[in-house]
Amino acid sequence: MLIVQKFGGSSVADAERIKNVARRVAAAKRAGNSVAVVLSAQGGTTDELIAKALEITPNPSKRELDMLLATGEQQSAALLSMALAAEGVPAASLNAQQAGIMSTSKHGNAHIKRIDTERAETELDRGNVVVVTGFQGVNRCGDITTLGRGGSDTSAVALAAALGADLCEIYTDVDGVYTADPRVVASARKLGVIGADEMLELASLGAKVLHNRSVELAKKYRVNLVVRSSLSDAPGTLVKEETGLESLIVSGVAVDKDIARISLVGLANQPGVAFKLFSLLARARISVDVILQSIGRESTKDITFTVAKDDADETLKIIADNAVTLGYRQVSHDDGVAKLSVVGAGMATNPGVAAEMFEAIYNAGVNINMISTSEIRISVLIDAADADRAQIAVHDRFFPPAG
Ligand code: ADP
Ligand code: ASP
Ligand code: MG
Repeated sequence: MLIVQKFGGSSVADAERIKNVARRVAAAKRAGNSVAVVLSAQGGTTDELIAKALEITPNPSKRELDMLLATGEQQSAALLSMALAAEGVPAASLNAQQAGIMSTSKHGNAHIKRIDTERAETELDRGNVVVVTGFQGVNRCGDITTLGRGGSDTSAVALAAALGADLCEIYTDVDGVYTADPRVVASARKLGVIGADEMLELASLGAKVLHNRSVELAKKYRVNLVVRSSLSDAPGTLVKEETGLESLIVSGVAVDKDIARISLVGLANQPGVAFKLFSLLARARISVDVILQSIGRESTKDITFTVAKDDADETLKIIADNAVTLGYRQVSHDDGVAKLSVVGAGMATNPGVAAEMFEAIYNAGVNINMISTSEIRISVLIDAADADRAQIAVHDRFFPPAG
């Protein structure tokens, strides 16, 4: 079999962990498989590099920041390659340039366009393990880009698709995908299998166990994807296109704290206002999530929406720059919010889920600021300070703790 194994930051955090990964990779290789490894930077490294840049300037150039961040993955890849050699397994580390990972240009949030796998395939044909840096790409100018935080999962799935791998294993610090973040909700349960659509929703709504674009790619290219622990042999969670079972009404709960709420108050109550606002943001490639428009009162109305925290400054600048066109009385923004979501493919055919969710939140004494729904999810906006408490309350409502 051809297997792509991805190891996250905590799995390669220190020399012992790297040697542990080398033993796992060596075992897969000795079992007769071809193995390509994708690595994250050692745990904490990416944050440290960002902090270093911020010591120099509060607004580092995104190009230079990518140049800096990409070194984290280069370190871990070289170290693992050395550890594999010490295990008697020949290996070669490749950065994004060497591995032919071609991306779009947007620094800090580039997307993989294609992977020229020639070099990686040559190494694999020679019987070597290839160790590829995750999280990075090369744009058409030859500059290094990064794929967004958590992006190594996407590098791994993209490589698996490009190589036509039989399996892509994401090794992390929990032993699979749970019904909620197991670090926050003690009673969260491990799922043996989860549908790709539900996994994509959970990942997009803040369950950072998988980078959302990795799930999208796995779905599109039919990559067999498994999430499991680098520290145990527990079987992990299989992400499947079709689960084959009756869809669970609710498969999980997720929280996203990396969002900001922005409100425009006193907009003209006339057609075209929402169009103007959101097309300006779309042009800047800013994704908007939960949107609430008040019913117009006399001549004015208000619009409130959320964006990723990283996009908040740019959003506010666009709104300020277009003050005349948009014609609002006042803008406000709030960083201290969180989005709590319940996801499940069976929700569409089971009314009542929203009422149960709201009741659990009410019982926890938490106030709901905004609500949005789709076929397979319900999200509420709450204060970030209430997020953990509300997540536990909602989770335990749908997955009552045993005993
Ligand atoms: P890695 O460094 O291996 O990429 P991440 O920190 O990115 O690991 O993702 C793993 C973390 O995701 C876990 O430690 C866990 O706290 C968090 N997480 C959030 N939601 C879930 C979930 N539903 N199932 C499992 N883990 C989750
Ligand atoms: N090292 C990067 C990060 O910390 C990418 C990753 O770990 O997936 O976000
Ligand atoms: Mg991750």
